[in-house]
Amino acid sequence: MSALFETYSRWPVKVIRGQGNYLWDVEEKKYLDFTSGIGVTNLGHQPPSVKKAVEKQLEQLWHCSNLFHIPIQEKLAEKLTEISGCDKVFFCNSGAEANEAAIKLARKYAQSVLQLDRYEVITFTQSFHGRTMATLTATGQDKVKLGFSPLLPGIVTIPYNDLSAFEAAVNDRTCAVLLEVIQGEGGVNPAEKEWLQQVTAICKEKEILLMVDEIQTGMGRTGTWFAYQQYGIEPDVVTVAKGLGSGFPIGAMMAKKKTSEAFGPGSHGSTFGGNPLAVSAALATVRTIEEEGILLQVKQKGFLIQEKLRNAFSANDKIEKIKGLGLMIGIQLKEDSALYITKAREKGLLALAAGPQVIRLLPPFTVTEEEINQAVGILQGALNQ
Ligand SMILES: *Cc1c(COP(=O)(O)O)cnc(C)c1O
Repeated sequence: MSALFETYSRWPVKVIRGQGNYLWDVEEKKYLDFTSGIGVTNLGHQPPSVKKAVEKQLEQLWHCSNLFHIPIQEKLAEKLTEISGCDKVFFCNSGAEANEAAIKLARKYAQSVLQLDRYEVITFTQSFHGRTMATLTATGQDKVKLGFSPLLPGIVTIPYNDLSAFEAAVNDRTCAVLLEVIQGEGGVNPAEKEWLQQVTAICKEKEILLMVDEIQTGMGRTGTWFAYQQYGIEPDVVTVAKGLGSGFPIGAMMAKKKTSEAFGPGSHGSTFGGNPLAVSAALATVRTIEEEGILLQVKQKGFLIQEKLRNAFSANDKIEKIKGLGLMIGIQLKEDSALYITKAREKGLLALAAGPQVIRLLPPFTVTEEEINQAVGILQGALNQ
């Protein structure tokens, strides 16, 4: 019996090693990893540039409290403002913490900057925002909330891609909207461009903060630094985590200058937030993506894999559609996906579920065309029987 809480239904694979685009189990079986640790190890396992940066940081400073100025934190924050269009960055350690910070900022902004009695945050069905009390309340999936009541008051969840539902939900108490541009855990569901632009316009007009959860879509996953950059919108708050540190735990909540003014000294904090080791990994990750022209590669590989999947499954009536953006891909089935994910794994390909009927692929950005062919072949073998 395991001494661990039974909070995960784990796969029957004991992983001991990761290198590049592959994982190995205790029996030395090799797996092509199209999960990337759920969108985390985006440059593959142990990317050399990140490894080198962390090794260098190990020799200098592991931890230092935020009572000090920490130059490497400043550097990463500056870099993140360059790529995001935000002006200020708060570092934390996970996605849930980044969203928690965003929800706190929204309320504080309404109450202390706008000086209005606003506190409601609008979120959407099928969303996923984390497992803390505030973020599970914000999550639009009952299975995440079940048994944890009373939930946080002041969070309203409405249908996604539905303008009239949104117009009906907005009121004098609304301080912010929190949404994923492409819902990850909920099934790889992209926002409709027109809907998102209309939501943005209403937010702007009513001084409601538009907060985009880019924890899964951010840091290049969809072929731009952030998915919202393909929608012609400018959010007030952006949250990131997963892919930011290439596997080192780090999250960030970023905001426009005016919004950030709600958080003064003492309003929020985290002991480990902006830990130098994690920051060194993140800084190297961002630089590598930039210097090696990886965003363009993600776009190209994304088109390639979607095209190959469409060709492979054009005559397969188990499959509803192929969807996604960049290297965030969903194969929407007309039936449960679990059996096919298991079959693929047994053949050496690791893929994820997203909701009951979607096979989600989050390959590393370093995936090769040969590996894409291999993966499509394995999925074909699993699904075309
Ligand atoms: C994974 C995820 C989170 C939660 O991140 P944790 O690091 O697990 O807390 C929040 N939002 C989205 C969109 C995610 O994909």
